[in-house]
Amino acid sequence: MRGTRAIIHINNFKHNINQIKTFINPGVKLCVAVKANAYGHGAAECATAALECGADFLAIATVDEGRELREKGIKAPLLMLSLCSPEEVSQAVTLNITPLVFDSEYIELFAKEAVAQKKQGYRVHLAVDTGMGRIGCLPEEAAGLAKEIASTGILVQEGTCTHFALSDDKSPKGIDFTEEQFKAFKMAIDGIRKAGLNPGLCHCANSAATLDHPEMQLDMVRPGIIVYGYYADEVSKEYLEQKGTPLDLLPVMTLETQISSIRWFEKGKSVGYGRTWKAEEETNIAVLPIGYGDGWLRRFSQLGVPVAIGGKSYPIRGRICMDQCMVDIGKDTGSIKRWDKVILFGDEKDGALQTADNIAALTGTISYEITSCITSRVPRIFTL
Ligand SMILES: *Cc1c(COP(=O)(O)O)cnc(C)c1O
Repeated sequence: MRGTRAIIHINNFKHNINQIKTFINPGVKLCVAVKANAYGHGAAECATAALECGADFLAIATVDEGRELREKGIKAPLLMLSLCSPEEVSQAVTLNITPLVFDSEYIELFAKEAVAQKKQGYRVHLAVDTGMGRIGCLPEEAAGLAKEIASTGILVQEGTCTHFALSDDKSPKGIDFTEEQFKAFKMAIDGIRKAGLNPGLCHCANSAATLDHPEMQLDMVRPGIIVYGYYADEVSKEYLEQKGTPLDLLPVMTLETQISSIRWFEKGKSVGYGRTWKAEEETNIAVLPIGYGDGWLRRFSQLGVPVAIGGKSYPIRGRICMDQCMVDIGKDTGSIKRWDKVILFGDEKDGALQTADNIAALTGTISYEITSCITSRVPRIFTL
């Protein structure tokens, strides 16, 4: 097996879920987001572990993700958070994937297919757009669409949901906007009830809202990033610490590789494409078999992302290539040997000196993107 691999600590994953459960009000259902291959961690394994921890629903983004989980024996309800194409609707219904619906055309597509497959009571959730601007009907349209769902005679509105745009923003403006969204959502729910219909499970809380706005948990929460060991943002972490309810999160993924060779560089010798770096003095360069083809992104080198070898941090030199990158180990050839393990990020128990959050901060993104971008070429090794 390749020396480049992502270690997935299922025990850390379960630990995180159990931590989060202490924040969840009694009776509130848990929907764990396993979309995008569980944020890069391995969908089926994370889904199984989430269900073992008591998850009621799993959230996916595509029909293909749903098929993978069904093929691997997952029977739990799958909530599909993005829209699928009309050609996928029949597969979606065959796989019993629960779609978010919010317009007549999409409701009709699912209703027709449910009739064709004789699935009386096929479950859908009504999505309401309260400010994200991505998916959902306007709050004032919710009752009308609930009526449409009911009048299909075959679909059942199992739930009603919305999604926050700023729940990880703890500035007064951010909090105001989240509260406005929540108000609009409650208005939509009231509208549905006043029309004599049942909104079903009402849910809106992602990771940030689950932790920071317990009153917004309603009937179900939909955490994603926190189950993988990261706060939705740094502010959220500080906010909880201030409130005296910090959460002990452990990174689930550790990305590691192995030195494939060590090369002596004389002063002036350059490394990599574009010759962007030249040795200012004699040094040693360790070549690592990981590159942007693995999701170890090219811009990491320009932005000063280091790697850890033997508990010490070393800089990447030159540009990251598709399959390899080069690291300056200076004169440490006594302590560092060819084939030694290199830790790129993850759990400090594995020797990591940085997390996906640290890399995200250095490179202007969020931990979500760092872990999701680790490509399928990197084997996932599942351990407890
Ligand atoms: C991805 C997603 C979530 C989970 O978001 P996190 O910030 O990772 O907790 C919840 N709800 C919807 C609709 C999503 O798309």
